[in-house]
Amino acid sequence: MPYGGIGWLRKQQLFEELVAACPGPPFRFDRVLVLVPSSRMTRTYRKLFLDAVEKAHGATALIPPVVQTLHRFLSSLSARVPGPALIDENTRLVLVEGIVKNYLAERRLFSQSPDVLAPSLSASLAAMIDQLAHAGIGPTELRVALAQTDAVDRKQVVLLMDIYDAYERILKERNLADPAGMLTHLAGLFDPSWLDPYDTIIIDNIADAGDLEAGLLAKITAHRNCRYLGEGLGGLVARAGEAHPLRITKDFLAKINVVVEEDGCGMDEDNEFLARALFSDKTFAEIEQQARALPSFGKTVRLLSAVNPREEVSFIAGEVKKALRAGIAADSLLVAFPSLDEYGPLVEEIFTDCGIPYNRALGRQLSTSPVTTAAISLLRACHEEFSGPSLLRVLSSPFLTFGENRAIAPALDRFLRDRKIMGGKERLLTQLLYQRPHDDGIDVLTTPLKDLFAALEPFCTTDSAPLAVWMERLGRLTAWSKLASRVLLIKGPLNSNLQAYKKLEETFSSLAAAGRLFPEYRYTFSEWFFLLRKTLMHVRYQVPPDDEGGVQVLGMGETMGHAWSEIYLGGLIDTKFPQRLPQNIFLPESTLEPLGIRTLEKARLTASHHFYRLLLSAEKITLTRPENEGDRATVASPFLAELTPLIRAGLINQGIEQTSGIQFSLRPEDSRSISELAKAVGSKGIVPGIEQVLNADIANMAAIKAAYDFSPPSEAPNLSSQYKRSFRVTELDDYLQCPYDYYVKHVLRLRPLEEVSEDISPLDRGSAVHAILHSFYKEWDKPVNACTRNEAQALLQKLAAVAYDPARVADTFRNRRDQQLFLSVIAERFLDAEELFWQQGMRPAFLEHKIEAYKITLSDGSEVELNAKIDRIDVDEQGNFIVVDYKTGKYPTPKKTVDQEIFQLPVYAVMAQQASSADEVRLRQPIGLAYYDLMGKNKGLARDVVLFNKDLGLDQPAIKPQSSPKSAEDFETILKQSMDKARKAIEGIRAGDFTSEPQDENKCRYCPNAVMCETEET
Ligand code: SF4
Repeated sequence: MPYGGIGWLRKQQLFEELVAACPGPPFRFDRVLVLVPSSRMTRTYRKLFLDAVEKAHGATALIPPVVQTLHRFLSSLSARVPGPALIDENTRLVLVEGIVKNYLAERRLFSQSPDVLAPSLSASLAAMIDQLAHAGIGPTELRVALAQTDAVDRKQVVLLMDIYDAYERILKERNLADPAGMLTHLAGLFDPSWLDPYDTIIIDNIADAGDLEAGLLAKITAHRNCRYLGEGLGGLVARAGEAHPLRITKDFLAKINVVVEEDGCGMDEDNEFLARALFSDKTFAEIEQQARALPSFGKTVRLLSAVNPREEVSFIAGEVKKALRAGIAADSLLVAFPSLDEYGPLVEEIFTDCGIPYNRALGRQLSTSPVTTAAISLLRACHEEFSGPSLLRVLSSPFLTFGENRAIAPALDRFLRDRKIMGGKERLLTQLLYQRPHDDGIDVLTTPLKDLFAALEPFCTTDSAPLAVWMERLGRLTAWSKLASRVLLIKGPLNSNLQAYKKLEETFSSLAAAGRLFPEYRYTFSEWFFLLRKTLMHVRYQVPPDDEGGVQVLGMGETMGHAWSEIYLGGLIDTKFPQRLPQNIFLPESTLEPLGIRTLEKARLTASHHFYRLLLSAEKITLTRPENEGDRATVASPFLAELTPLIRAGLINQGIEQTSGIQFSLRPEDSRSISELAKAVGSKGIVPGIEQVLNADIANMAAIKAAYDFSPPSEAPNLSSQYKRSFRVTELDDYLQCPYDYYVKHVLRLRPLEEVSEDISPLDRGSAVHAILHSFYKEWDKPVNACTRNEAQALLQKLAAVAYDPARVADTFRNRRDQQLFLSVIAERFLDAEELFWQQGMRPAFLEHKIEAYKITLSDGSEVELNAKIDRIDVDEQGNFIVVDYKTGKYPTPKKTVDQEIFQLPVYAVMAQQASSADEVRLRQPIGLAYYDLMGKNKGLARDVVLFNKDLGLDQPAIKPQSSPKSAEDFETILKQSMDKARKAIEGIRAGDFTSEPQDENKCRYCPNAVMCETEET
């Protein structure tokens, strides 16, 4: 059959002939068996027959043909013959894991706990055993095959052989069969009379299967009236070389005894050329030459790249929308991705925004469904010992019993923040005993939390139990959680929640059945929870068939056997297409190949086959890839190189100007969805003619319309502190750092909502250090020197013990580490600096020195007040002084000129000097400004006199000895300039000037206001 629409028409004709041969009612086709590769195609076929009967006989009632996937058909045959009971995939995994755990416990093979190793190893072992079994290699054959190789003595190979032995033995002892065993059993007993109920057998588009299935198919093709329908050029299949995508089909057809016809394919000339050009053994130059010699090439093939996956999907959505507007049937448009799990959510979001009807048919991972997430969140709460975030997940889930009361989750969030606790069952209940009722006098938390803790009690045990017992407990928990009834209430898109719930129940039952089969394997809660999550990650669920209309968003395997008018194939990057698979951890490829296991090669060939097939399956093909993923540049899929000669010949991207760097246009007229329009008009402001669009009766336009209609009050409410008269020096520093940041922090008083944590915050840590050092000099009344250092150290230790007392600070790992850090780094650096300081003939005269209502006159003559709290002021006998600021973080460093970023210290110096007349100790003249680099952010001693008057002849410890010393005149200028800056900052604040102009643009990188002040976009 030709690929694409022509092939589809041929197929239709074939079935119409079959139907037309039926003499009259009743229209019985139950003697026709059709075997297809996917359950999706079974539905397509049933419709095909119905249409054919209606067309040929005008009837709408018929007895349908038997349309089944090969797997289902073989399973139904096996159910009819006596033999072992078939186990499912979950049971297989449970069995392998149990065997592995016992095996490791007996031998301590990899010097790791079997509990840790068994779950991670068992999945790989189960996959390896499955591959071997499907290739017809049993444990004995494996031992024989490996006997003469170097691999035979390797630990992992010994493990594989022993586990495979034990696995087969247990299955035999219990009269069970895994899927491969079932196929072997069936092949041994196969009786051609099993096919007697069918007059006609059609095998459609099954392009590959494992050896065992292929062997059974070969027996089926021996039926007297069996037809195999496959896509592609017969000649090309027959001659496909080792690396050609059709080799997979060629090998398979040989296995099932199907002879390929050399001709009669019926492809049009363009496709025939393309089929011979792609993956050809000719050189690119030869193909290019042939391409240039073509009289015409009417097929549209585009190869484009967008800046990232979101822009890529937006582009596809735009093109799909154009096609729909041009009248192309939605379900004839195919959008396919090699990694649909990654692209799926993005496609759903953007297609929904664009109003495109779609069907995302490929099954979804059950573990990602909201229903499963809700069920797992219950167990996770127990696993995480009832941490705050885990409880919030449970209480806020709409699928669980607490979804009935929306006040519970916010109340718990507030409670955790207020009390600064991270959760914990006992801790929460104790704290709740002392909590004041809420404003309305109701305690909304105690009862639900107690209920939840009681429901989870059976899981709070360290004892092990058989799988069946854990599944029974889980059954009771899900019943208590009202998951089933909540799911019915909440209707998700395409009813996917209900589908997910059904699959979840099915999976739980399957695990419970596995537990009953193997009661000897026991699990702790953690082991069982890991097994459960691992299982849910492998299981997939489907949306109901009724919802299959619209643009088809499919994975590669699902795209076969349809007629497509346009194909969009996206996400074509290396590592995803073909997918990069890990190397086999048990046996090297060179050993596996002779055994008939070629996983890596097969994955590459299968991917190339899909690529090849899809390129030939529609008249308009668009291939796309993202240029970046996150902050990483991507590499194009190697298959795209096949198009090189065609690009050179000008057959690809005909008439397209921009083929790379595609991204969303901000022009309103290019908008493809309401959200794009909102972004576009948001950035352009008033757009001529927009009223017409806004007034059109389009859903969701109301928000944009409302934004347009909104006119801000003529005078903005005055938040700018126009009449503010009192300022702190630290806030002025904030203003100078960035006026907009000041506005957010000090005018709007917004601050980011931080994670609840029992660890003390960096701010609290700084306060604790300040408090200890302040208390130190409150108690210490003599110089620090070599003789007194131990005593000083002991005092700091004592003060630290008080500051970090577990009664005040939670006993967490980080808090303990902080205390340790204080003693080992901060205290030592401080004492080193103090020893030197005391030799200079100065002493700390003021500690946490407050200066309030310091008067400062602005340029308009008005007077405002400045307030400050200075960590410490050191004074010599003449009253010369140095202003000191303790720092646990970074601080501004001095510059060689008089223009300085250092702002607070000079202002403090001026304020301290002028305000000191009333003090006991007279401050005569500021001679220096010092930071204490307590954490050692810069190299050197802690005491860093960042600016000082060198004309007094005193040398000071400074980390930047070139920049810190200043002449008396420069030092004076710096003080004066800082006061001028303070004045300007005050005037800016009072004038409401809050522009986003950071002093240092690096600040923007970590600024939480980046979105609000729009620097993020620039
Ligand atoms: S992101 Fe930059 S400009 Fe914006 S508020 Fe923060 S520091 Fe200021």
